[in-house]
Order: sequence, then C-alpha cells, then structure tokens
Amino acid sequence: MLTAATIANFKTSLRGQAIEPLDQGYDEARALYNAMIDKRPRVIARCADVADVINAVNLGRDANLLIAIRGGGHNGPGLGSCDDGLVIDLSAMKGVRVDPASQTVRAGPGCTQGDVDHACHAFGLAVPAGIVSTTGLAGLTLGGGTGYLTRKYGLTIDNLIEADVVLADGRFVTASSSKNEDLFWALRGGGGNFGVVTSFVFRAHPASIVLAGPTMWEIKYARQIMQWYRDFLPKAPLELCTFLGLKTVPSTEPFPKDIWGKKIVALISCYNGSAEDGQKAMQPIRDELPDPILNWVGPMPFPAIQSMFDPLLPKGLQWYWKGAYVKDLPDRAIDVHLQYAMEAPSELSLMHLYPIDGAVHRVGKHDTPWNCRDGNWSMVIAAIAPDPAKSAQLKRWGRAYWEAVNPFTTGGGYVNFMMDDEGDTRIKATYGDNFERLVAVKRKYDPNNLFRVNQNIKP
Ligand SMILES: Cc1cc2nc3c(=O)[nH]c(=O)nc-3n(C[C@H](O)[C@H](O)[C@H](O)COP(=O)(O)OP(=O)(O)OC[C@H]3O[C@@H](n4cnc5c(N)ncnc54)[C@H](O)[C@@H]3O)c2cc1C
Repeated sequence: MLTAATIANFKTSLRGQAIEPLDQGYDEARALYNAMIDKRPRVIARCADVADVINAVNLGRDANLLIAIRGGGHNGPGLGSCDDGLVIDLSAMKGVRVDPASQTVRAGPGCTQGDVDHACHAFGLAVPAGIVSTTGLAGLTLGGGTGYLTRKYGLTIDNLIEADVVLADGRFVTASSSKNEDLFWALRGGGGNFGVVTSFVFRAHPASIVLAGPTMWEIKYARQIMQWYRDFLPKAPLELCTFLGLKTVPSTEPFPKDIWGKKIVALISCYNGSAEDGQKAMQPIRDELPDPILNWVGPMPFPAIQSMFDPLLPKGLQWYWKGAYVKDLPDRAIDVHLQYAMEAPSELSLMHLYPIDGAVHRVGKHDTPWNCRDGNWSMVIAAIAPDPAKSAQLKRWGRAYWEAVNPFTTGGGYVNFMMDDEGDTRIKATYGDNFERLVAVKRKYDPNNLFRVNQNIKP
C-alpha cells in the first residue's frame, strides 16, 4: 500500500525529486519521446544517485507498485514509463568519465548518446553505439546497440566491460566477466529485466574526423541500388558503415526545395579513418551508381554525423515501429520493400537496414544473449508523423509492411525496435537458444518479476 506517510518518507529520503500527478512539472516529467504513448505514473522518482535508486527499488517492491525504469525515454512502446506505478527516472544521473590511458569510459544511466559522444570526442575516442544523439544510452546498451562503428568494433554490448546494478531485493552488485558473470551475460542484450543499472563501463575506440553523410537517389533507382548494396556491403572495409534507407526528402530546410517530398533511396555512410581511405572505400558509390539528387558526404567530427538527423526527429512525434534481422536481400524481398515504400503514410516514415556484419559475427552466438551473430542487417520499419490523427494509419502501414517482408527475415528482431504488441513468441525467436538461459538468470536475480515493464523475460 502506498500511503501518504510512505510517500512523504520516500520524498525525504531522496537526494533527487519525487514528482506526483498534482506537482508542477508532472506532465513534462512523464512525457515520452514517442507521443503515441501516454502514461500516467503514480510517482516519478528522479534519482540523483545510487542511494536514491536503492530507495526507489525498495519503495516499489514493498508497496507492490509496478516499476518502470527510464533512461533516455526513447523506447518505442514507452517501456520507460507505466500507468499508476513508480518510474525510476535516471535522466539526472549523467556523469561521464573518459580514461584516455585505458581507453575506457564510465557513463551514468541518464546519459544520452550525445553526452557520451561529446565527452569522448575531446580525446579522439568513441563508444560504438547508436546514430541519433538524443537516444538514451542505457536502454540502447541493454538491448544490444548498433551504429556507425558496429562493423569494425561490434555492438555496444560487445564493448561493455562492467555494469553496476541495483537488484530487485535492493542489493547493489557489480557485473563483469569476473563478477556475477551470469548477470553480466544477461545484461548484454536481455534488456532491463534484471535490475537497475546505475553505471556502465565501456571500451572506447579511436574516432575523430570521419568521412560521412547521406547520398540520395530518386526512388526509381531503388531496385538497382538495393541489388548493388547487398553485394557491396559485405566486401566493403569494416571502417565503412553504410546503411540503406527507403525514405522521403523532408519538405524543410536545409534540403533543396526542388527535391522536397520526393521518395528516395538513400545510403548513409560513415568511414572512420583517413579521408583518403574513406574516399577510396566509397569510390564504388560514385563509379557504379547513377547520379544522386543529393550528396552530403564530407569530412566532419564524429559527433556531427551522430547528431545530423536529430532536428528531423524531435521529441513528441507519433512513432510505430517494427524490427527484424535480415540475412539476405533477395529480389522478392526488394519487391515488397518497394511496394511499401511507395505507400509510406508520411514524409518521415522509413525503412532502414543497419549493418550487423563484421565484428558482430566474431562474437559467439552464446557469448551474449544477442543471438543473431550471423545476420547482415538489423531492419527497422518506422512509421513516424507529427499528427496524432495519423496514428492508426501509421500502425496499419508499419504492421502490414512488416508482415509482408517477414518471410525474408530470420523471425527474430532487435528488442529495441519492437513495440509492445509482439508477444512472447517473438521474444523467444529473438533470443533463440539463449532464451532458457535468460529465464534462469531472471529466476535467480528477479524471481518475482519486479522488473517487468520491458520486453519481458518471465521467470
Ligand atoms: C530516434 C531514435 C533513434 C534510435 N537509434 C538507434 C540506434 O542507432 N541504434 C540502436 O541500437 N538503437 C536505436 N534506437 C532504439 C533505442 O535503442 C531504444 O529506443 C532504447 O529503448 C532507448 O533507450 P532509452 O534509455 O532512451 O529508453 P527508455 O525508454 O528510457 O528505456 C527503455 C527500456 O530500457 C530499460 N532501461 C533503461 N535504462 C535502464 C537502466 N539504467 N537499467 C535497467 N534497465 C533500463 C528499461 O527496461 C526500459 O523499459 C533509436 C531510437 C530512437 C527513438
């Protein structure tokens, strides 16, 4: 039972803030990145430190409250919040410490991608993670983490060295390859199922000025470019990450007005190395493909490509997305993609194929819960628009597209590209033969499923 006295005691115990429905700032505090999701928690505990997290977990467990854990609040189905329960909001726990000597980075659970990129860039380093700077690092990491450095250095979880965790019983533990190894294994892809992570330590890699940016062609070239891309990518040097997108040119600056609203196929590239080597690696794009309608590839600091698309994707849009892992891109799959690309319900709606080959394949299938160590792409179909009236149409298109292309995927998909309508079968397919081991770790560390607002692994 959550009595007034319990809440009052909790508030006094916190170094951070407890925000309730009648408090000023409640609506702002509960708002999620995806405006399609509208949740009204009973209390939001904006934690300042680990002591606050321990207090919050103890409160939630003892008062029998539903608990959601919130890092960056970017989760598609809004799993960083819940109705009528307790949100453990970590957004204020943002510290980043880069150790240039050991090339390691300790980051707080409230860090965004941009916070970590910013701190690392001063040292010519980067942690392999996502491609939009406003995304929360915590949720991204616990699901896997793909981005421009993936082909060369692996997933974000492949670069995780250690994590501090507050468990369901309120205990604080450290997980690494030598401490609580089972928990460390499960954290690397198993999502927020096992406890509240209060600190991450990552391996960082050299990344400073990269050759990067988008190249766009009219959609009439999409078939040719997709066929070309499926052969080009596996042979490309691992320093080059080029992902493919079927999209529409946004009708806004800085895009040239004469191409606003045009359906396009895009290759978005980032070469992490010298400009000269990068030009060489991307030469086939210039030599072997038709003339693009836009080419913005150029040298830039790594954090610049990481935040290049932020302005197009502010908080507060409607999002419905679906993901899947893809090994091959046969012509019949391309037909499906082209059909749905032409029917996209809004300018922002898209399909992206993110490379997960190279270093991802060098990690064993059972070394982490991320089971797709032989796929070539993590696909996302994202239906996005500012207008809430469009939400039903976005869902219809996203679902229909995903169902149509599903026969050409592995059956599983990245947990961070799932909505909350996927069901247990999809989660099992995603983890494959790692699923039972995840269940065993869940039984050990969270037997009562206190942490269940996530892509849930039931104990
Ligand atoms: C615009 C955009 C771009 C994206 N780009 C990429 C990309 O390039 N690569 C990629 O891999 N993914 C990408 N994603 C997907 C992203 O990984 C997920 O949306 C992820 O859930 C975001 O994490 P968060 O911390 O912001 O989410 P939140 O909504 O805060 O949390 C999501 C879930 O993570 C868990 N969680 C969060 N913090 C903790 C913690 N400290 N301890 C335990 N559990 C926790 C909780 O279970 C929670 O339910 C992108 C998403 C968006 C919206």
